[in-house]
Order: sequence, then C-alpha cells, then structure tokens
Amino acid sequence: MAVSGMGGKPEMKNKNQTRWNIDTECIHGGSEPDPTFGALAPAIFQTSTFVFRTPEEGAARFAGVDPGYIYTRMGNPTIAALEESVAALEEGTSALATASGMAAISTVFFALLSTGDHVVSSASVYGPSRVLLERDFSRFGIQASMVDTSDTEILRAAVTDRTRVIFVETPANPTLAITDLAKAAEIAHEAGALLVVDNTFMSPILQKPFRFGADIVLHSVTKFLNGHSDVVGGILVFQDEELMKRVRGVRHYLGGTMDPHQAWMVHRGVKTLAMRVRTAQENAGALAELLAHHPAVEWVRYPGLPGHPQADLIARQMAGPGSLISFELKGGVEAGRKVLGSVELPALAVSLGGVESLIQHPASMTHATVKHQDRLAAGITDGLVRLAVGCEDREDLIADLRQALDALG
Ligand SMILES: *Cc1c(COP(=O)(O)O)cnc(C)c1O
Repeated sequence: MAVSGMGGKPEMKNKNQTRWNIDTECIHGGSEPDPTFGALAPAIFQTSTFVFRTPEEGAARFAGVDPGYIYTRMGNPTIAALEESVAALEEGTSALATASGMAAISTVFFALLSTGDHVVSSASVYGPSRVLLERDFSRFGIQASMVDTSDTEILRAAVTDRTRVIFVETPANPTLAITDLAKAAEIAHEAGALLVVDNTFMSPILQKPFRFGADIVLHSVTKFLNGHSDVVGGILVFQDEELMKRVRGVRHYLGGTMDPHQAWMVHRGVKTLAMRVRTAQENAGALAELLAHHPAVEWVRYPGLPGHPQADLIARQMAGPGSLISFELKGGVEAGRKVLGSVELPALAVSLGGVESLIQHPASMTHATVKHQDRLAAGITDGLVRLAVGCEDREDLIADLRQALDALG
C-alpha cells in the first residue's frame, strides 16, 4: 500500500498548519533552547509547586491574569512542552497530557456527559473504554450504544436526541475495521454532539482526525508516541480553546494529570515517532503478506493488504496501514496458543506501538472483561491473535513467524 501521503505537509492550508514537515516537527516541536545553560535537551521541572515572587503575583496567577505556573496538577513547563509538541503533530491548537490513556478517556467523558446523556461508541474500542462506559458511567444514568461505527448507516441509526458524544476508534481494536471519520463528524454535528477520536493506533503520522472534523483527538501515549514500552500516559488534543478549557477544568480536579518526568520521557520518544512508525509499518506489511499466503492461516486482517473492502476510505483517511495485524489460524484457539508460545521475537504481552513486537490473544487478555457475546458481535472471535509489529529487522521477524506457523504442520 502506498504511504506517499505520510510525512507530507497538510494539503489543506489552515491556521493550524505546522511550521515544518512532520519528521522535523517530531524532533523540534515544543523544544526551545534552555535559556539558563544552553542545554540542548529540555530540563525536567520535577516540582510540585511554583514560588510566587510577591503576594500580588500569586493572586494574579490564581485570577488567571498572570499566565505563570501555580501547581503541577494544573500545569508545568515540562508537561507543557510535550503538549505543545503533540498539539502541533495533530494540527490542534492545544493539548492536555494525562497520567494514562484511560485518564484521558475518563476525563473527557466526565467533562462532556451528564445524567440522561447518550454516547455512541465503536463496539470494538479498547476493552477498558467500553467497560468504563457500560459499567461505570451507566451508574450515573449515562447510556452507551456500542455499535459497528464502520457502517455509517448503523452509526446514524444509533444516534438519539440525547447523544452528546460519538466515540470512535479507527482502525478498531483489534478487528481493524475502518470508520469513516468525515461521515462520523457529520452525523455527530447534525445531532449537536461532539466527535471524539481515539487515534492511538495510527498516531498523528498516519491519521489526522481534525482534518475530517473531529472535535477532540486523544492518544494513549503509552503506545506509539512514547514508543519504548517504558511509560504509561495519555493526551487530549483540541482545536477549540473553549472546549479545551472545559476539559482542562475537569482534569485539574479529577487529578489525572501527567507527571513531569513522564512527560519528559514521552517527549523524548516523540522525536523518533515518524521513523519508528514507518519502520514498523514496513515490517507489518511483510508479515501480513506472509500470513496471507501461509496455509495454516484462516484469515488475516491488515489495512494494507490488496483487495481490502474499505480500500478507498483507507486511501482517503490514512497515510498508511499502520503496524497492527489480526489473524486467526485454521486450528483456531489451540493453534493460536501454540503460535503465541513458539514465536521468539514478538513478546507475549499486551500493548502496542513500542519498538518491540508484541503478540497477544484479545479474547483472554485485552478484551477478557468484555462479555463473550459482545466480543463476538464486535468481531473479536475466540481464535483471533493480535500482532503489534515493532522495529526489529524485517528478515528476523519473517523467519521467526514463519517457523512458528510451519511448526503447526
Ligand atoms: C492502550 C490503549 C488505551 C488505554 O491507554 P493506557 O495508557 O493504557 O491507559 C486506550 N485506547 C487504545 C486504543 C489503547 O490501545
């Protein structure tokens, strides 16, 4: 699949256009030379609080007249540098970093939903996002319809006059069904609702939901943005400052703010985002080809394989197919278990987006908390295996997966 759009400047000229091409933006966004010592790498302001020079200055900061920092839960320069960087990559105007991806998601639902409101969500979202809506927000009288948002008519039919949020993950996790973001935005806005997009799987390198009308874009930065499997974190990105302020107020008091050290680590990871995403994607393309032609494989889903039923939408909306593959073996759950146990390179672990390849079994792992019938309805069959491809050498990855598949006989 062509990845020519990747790394290019946005074709649409708008006020949010980034200053540089995306590879440069990854490396330099949010990074200013240190004014004290000239350090190239940014300082870590590992502090809980900030000293006011005078009582008047403190009062002015609390009154919002002086923009200086007050207390790290409400803002910190190290966190702000990461927020600036990711906001630019997503073509947003501001961002709010959070302690985890789930802190981003729970903060946004808490900020946007009240008793009696309704959410329409992709059925195959990240398992905990679904459980949060169905188990926790339901206790406050907030209804959720979990539907196949990759079918625009189903999405449209699920909207009610109480719908305030449409929550979409595309490609879906782990079914890799693609939702048309422009259509979802249109449906949301006609209903007076907001479109919130979990863009974790694509990263801003491969998909820019604001271009298609999203209102909030969020990430588990644990995955591609940090990229080294050593930090848990999240971020919310906005183009509308009023909306950002509404969510920021909630983040400040719910308390799911990112820590400065965490922010510094993620910002360091972002510098290599574009090259990691490209390498992992090239590897994934090769592994998907291997799976597609191997006799032990029942089916494989990868947005980059030829003949994908949503190829036009993929070309319109995504700059590349990414590095997540799902597949099922002819031998079902049992064969899947054997492959999980016999691959050497992909580690048997949940998560994705790191330089290391990971392999897992959603029905017993990431989506184990989702009811069996709901899992099946969302396309997560019992034998589905998810492979999150990393940045190892392509030939090593191919040889390893091939030996595991061949061993099935
Ligand atoms: C991992 C993940 C989350 C949750 O993020 P955490 O950082 O683990 O809290 C949310 N959405 C998607 C798509 C994810 O992959």
